[in-house]
Amino acid sequence: MISAHAGDFVWRAGGAIALATSRGERAKVVCLSYGERGESAKAWRAGKTLEEIKAIRREEAENAAAELGAEIEFLDAGDYPLVESQELVDRLVRVYRDVVPDVVLTHPLADPYNGDHPAAARMALQARVLAQAIGYEAPGEPLGAPPVFFFEPHQPEQCDFKPEVLLDITPVFDKKRKAMECLPAQQHMWDYYTDLAKRRGVQLKRNAGPNLGLAHDTMGEAYMRLYPQVTDVLS
Ligand SMILES: [Zn+2]
Repeated sequence: MISAHAGDFVWRAGGAIALATSRGERAKVVCLSYGERGESAKAWRAGKTLEEIKAIRREEAENAAAELGAEIEFLDAGDYPLVESQELVDRLVRVYRDVVPDVVLTHPLADPYNGDHPAAARMALQARVLAQAIGYEAPGEPLGAPPVFFFEPHQPEQCDFKPEVLLDITPVFDKKRKAMECLPAQQHMWDYYTDLAKRRGVQLKRNAGPNLGLAHDTMGEAYMRLYPQVTDVLS
């Protein structure tokens, strides 16, 4: 899971992460920055310094990751702007080769409100492709072809985001809520993303059909796929 800022993984994919770890799978979050300049308005208004804000956001994100059962790594690449570089891409290649993920989650490629998000996505995708190249010099074996899922951005319509995959996160929603509550710097998001999970849960039930025994209070997360789904059975 590659995220531009410290909080992104919690709002948008906390359910997916908690589901994976609840099955005993490994989840690793890479935060390219702390979101120190662009997503920490409350701390700036409170008069904190840049270094203090980075420390606060780091601790919050570590707590949220712990709540979700995930490992977390910060690359401290700076935000607003998050500047793309070959060095950062190379660091991500090394993460891919080390973790060997079965699935990659990142931001969608369009976000007219926040250039850091598409920048993170471009680097995540480029690094995935490079990690597949046998001749690319980095420790470990060449990566296979883990599917890429784009998680839901804050303004989905403007980001050309349309739910293609609805993930049932009902059993772990309490964990996601607790992880969100580890981020008081963005307290205004807690209820917003709880409400969104309810709406995606309603869509999930509608698309699953009425007779599958889904809980009344289904909670969901929406994703898009970058690459085709590979299967030998259509249903
Ligand atoms: Zn962000």
